[in-house]
Amino acid sequence: MRKQIAAANWKMNLTLGQAEKLLDEVLAIDWTPKAHQEVVFAVPAPYLYPALTKLRATGRTQVHISSQNAYSEKSGAYTGETSAEMLQSIGVTHVILGHSERREYFGETDHVLAKKLDIALAHGLTPIFCCGEPLTVREAGTQNAFVAKQIEHSLFHLDDAQLRKVVIAYEPIWAIGTGKTATSAQAQEMHAFLRSVLAKKYGATADHISILYGGSVKAANAAEIFACPDVDGGLVGGASLIAKEFEAIIRALK
Ligand code: PEP
Repeated sequence: MRKQIAAANWKMNLTLGQAEKLLDEVLAIDWTPKAHQEVVFAVPAPYLYPALTKLRATGRTQVHISSQNAYSEKSGAYTGETSAEMLQSIGVTHVILGHSERREYFGETDHVLAKKLDIALAHGLTPIFCCGEPLTVREAGTQNAFVAKQIEHSLFHLDDAQLRKVVIAYEPIWAIGTGKTATSAQAQEMHAFLRSVLAKKYGATADHISILYGGSVKAANAAEIFACPDVDGGLVGGASLIAKEFEAIIRALK
C-alpha cells in the first residue's frame, strides 16, 4: 500500500511555547501507526531543531519534522534563506515546496520549484510538492490542464528513482483556509487524473506516489476524503493547530 500521510502545515503561527505544547500533545496520543502510515509536522524554521529534539525523545519513527521551504541554491550569499543542506544537517527529513502561498506571495515559479526539488532530493529530503488551481481556473473548468502543467514543469525532469521520493499535495487554492473543502468526488477525480499524468511518463511508478489532499481538511471531513482510493492522506493547515482536530485527522488515515 502507498504511504498514507497526515502532514501538518503550521505556516507562520505559534510562539515557541505554544509550538512545544502542541507538539507535546500530539506526540503523546496513543497511536500505533500501521506500517504504511506517517505523520509529518511542517513547523516554522526557528522551531525545527527544538521539534526534532522533542521527537527524538519520544522514539517515534513514523513521525517526521518538515521545513516549510528551502532555497534553490546550495549555499552562499542569500541572506535570510535556508538551504537543503542545513536542513539535512540538523535531521529534517521533509520539505514543503511550491505551496500556493509561496507561489503567490514570493513569486515562486515552476522553474524555480524544479531547482528546489533537485537540491532537496540531492540532500536526501522528501519534497512535499504542492500544486493546485485558483478559483477562476476551477470555474472555467480548466483545472486539469492547469495542474498537469505544474506537475510537468516542476517534476518531469526527474528520473524514476527521484520521483519515487516525492510526495505530491493537491491543494485547490479556493479551498485553502477558506473552510470550503473540495467534495470527495472532486478530490478523487483530480487525484486520479494526476496519477494518470504521472503514469503517462513514469508508468507503474505512478501507483507508488502518495498524493495528499489539502484544503480545509478537518476532523469532520478527513475520513470521507481520505477514503477516496487515490487520496493518500492530507496536508492540513488550520486544523493542524488544534491538537484534538489533528489527532482525529491522523486517526482518519486509511
Ligand atoms: C495548507 O495551507 O496547506 C492548507 C491546506 O490549509 P488549510 O487546511 O487551513 O486549508
